[in-house]
Amino acid sequence: MSEMIRAFQTLRQLYDGFAGAETALGNSIGRSPCMSGCGRCCEVNTVQCLTIEAMNAVSLLTGLGKLRKAVDIAEGWLLEHHKEAPSYEGMVVGRFLTPELREEYTRISKLPCPFLQADKRCLIHEARPFVCRAYGVTRTTSGFCTRPPGKGETLTQFQYIQAPELKQDVDAFRAWLKRNHQPWVVSGFLPTLIYRAAEEKKFRGLVRDNRIASAKIIGVDIDTTLMWQPQLEKLQLGVMPDLVAQS
Ligand code: SF4
Ligand code: SF4
Repeated sequence: MSEMIRAFQTLRQLYDGFAGAETALGNSIGRSPCMSGCGRCCEVNTVQCLTIEAMNAVSLLTGLGKLRKAVDIAEGWLLEHHKEAPSYEGMVVGRFLTPELREEYTRISKLPCPFLQADKRCLIHEARPFVCRAYGVTRTTSGFCTRPPGKGETLTQFQYIQAPELKQDVDAFRAWLKRNHQPWVVSGFLPTLIYRAAEEKKFRGLVRDNRIASAKIIGVDIDTTLMWQPQLEKLQLGVMPDLVAQS
């Protein structure tokens, strides 16, 4: 079995683990942890993912006949000169971030996800990354989520699942990737990585011609803390590797 297929299989098993955790949480609170067609989380987040997740998404979306649309959306997002990115022009993409670039990166991460559709559903639902699966499941949406509270919850205190075994498995997967396939574990904005995985040559051309905001190109070692409530509060961004340089 090729290493890539093995990685995809493991990744999909881990995705199933999040689905199981969501079901368990739903059973515990007596309702679905997320209201279908809400999309509020996706309106304030352009999420990050691992490169292997983007590669897996390209494979899944190809089979579902949705890749072209997803790639066109990602390209539009990459080329759009967002007002949130004032330092768009002339930034040098490098291993160490200037404060301006870090600020730009943070602001871009709060833009709406481009894969959220007008009906508030996710275009790439079947291929959505870890972070999307963790939201409201292994990390709480207390004080933000619009759904009514379930059993044992209040308006300001929503439950989440700790899922220590799942966390262990996700960490082991990342460690295996780091040891054996470092480029697959580099993280970055989801649209960037999907585009790069599907259209690598075009992506390199756009980078070379300085047509993409630097903050949309760089990767960041998000670890997996974004996915687990106890660790989330301790999150600190580390050195951000350059996606282009690492590929
Ligand atoms: S990928 Fe889908 S679920 Fe994730 S933030 Fe975007 S629209 Fe939401
Ligand atoms: S705010 Fe709540 S219901 Fe809406 S998308 Fe987020 S988790 Fe789901």
